[in-house]
Amino acid sequence: MRNADGVRNLLNIVEGERELFIIVSAMGKTTNALEEVFDGCRTGDIELAEQKIDQIAAYHAEIIRDLYGGEHTSEQVDAFIEELRRFVRTVPYDASRAEERYDRTVAFGELISTTIISEWLGSVGVANHWVDMRRCFVTQFRHKDANVLLDESAPLLRREVAGSEARIFIGQGFIGSAADGSTTTLGREGSDYSAAVVANILNAESMTVWKDVDGILNADPKIFEEAQKIDALNYVDTIELAYSGAQIIHPKTIKPLQNKNIPLFVRPFGDKSAAGTRIDGSAPSVTIPIIILKRNQSFLTLRSRDLSFVLEEKFPIVFSTLERFRIKSNLIHNTAVELGICCEESWHLQEATEALREEGFECEICEQCNLLTIRHYNDEVFEKYIDCNDYLISQLTPDTVRIVKRRF
Ligand code: ASP
Ligand code: MG
Repeated sequence: MRNADGVRNLLNIVEGERELFIIVSAMGKTTNALEEVFDGCRTGDIELAEQKIDQIAAYHAEIIRDLYGGEHTSEQVDAFIEELRRFVRTVPYDASRAEERYDRTVAFGELISTTIISEWLGSVGVANHWVDMRRCFVTQFRHKDANVLLDESAPLLRREVAGSEARIFIGQGFIGSAADGSTTTLGREGSDYSAAVVANILNAESMTVWKDVDGILNADPKIFEEAQKIDALNYVDTIELAYSGAQIIHPKTIKPLQNKNIPLFVRPFGDKSAAGTRIDGSAPSVTIPIIILKRNQSFLTLRSRDLSFVLEEKFPIVFSTLERFRIKSNLIHNTAVELGICCEESWHLQEATEALREEGFECEICEQCNLLTIRHYNDEVFEKYIDCNDYLISQLTPDTVRIVKRRF
């Protein structure tokens, strides 16, 4: 949702439903704005951070005014904004706890959006219960990309639901908390995953992701003219799609649904008449080409200094080091003495390469890369998109082609 009309549109979703758990993400580009608040703190530019908070406050205030048709404020939203401001002003930045600070900062987007929605729905007669997902989702102690611990979370969430008269629940996507009580986030675009975990724990009949697209497409229509909607997908294809970088569904979403065979619908926001895409265990495999561009990649090349070893023996060191610095690899290519890894851009890439150098590797980093994946390619799309000039690495199987290039 990005404006008051989006919130009003929720009435279409709620209508006719008896038992609904609604997971809401931050409004519009609020998470990006909060990342800038964090960046202000990280770079010592508190003024920038405060400016961003002002913008975030103004953006939500305007939505609230629009919703109520005139002057109206939410005490709870104001309280969240104040809490964020106080945090930025009074807690000095500590690089060793960057991820924890990031999580605490960006979580305000969902806390605020759910508050606005829950209060407004209440005001128009839709009884609902606001759920603080930080109290229901226990996650790993892994800031910025935590997984929800199902066994620990299930009793908490069930108790929350059982303890309320309401049949409509509003909870934040994307957030939870670790055993030490600190706020954690589940990875960018993680609200889908939140909803899937809720669906799993509460044995939902189905889950629907309402998005500003018609359903799942085989390519981003802003980049590729081949984009078309896919009507039915199975769980496995969906995971592969998400993993290659299709932004439509968070890769972690599928497992909790698959475990209980809960179908997932991706549909255009608030339009209950549109079929969208149905994802379940039985849909046939897709056959049209799926074209996915993943940006913000770095390409790391590692070599042994003395050519005296077979690199495979060193794989565990390489990957445990990357894991230690929370760097995700997306493509791996090896020869006897060289290992190429395409990974997500990371704040910790320099530290990680230092650590690898200490382990005896020569490391080269090429930043600002893109990874293009085409599954089920045919000659036409291959020729069109796989331009074999000036690339860093490419991988070809009978079904899939992947290529890493410098961003241009
Ligand atoms: N608000 C978070 C993000 O923008 C989570 C989500 O949208 O699913 O990444
Ligand atoms: Mg979002």
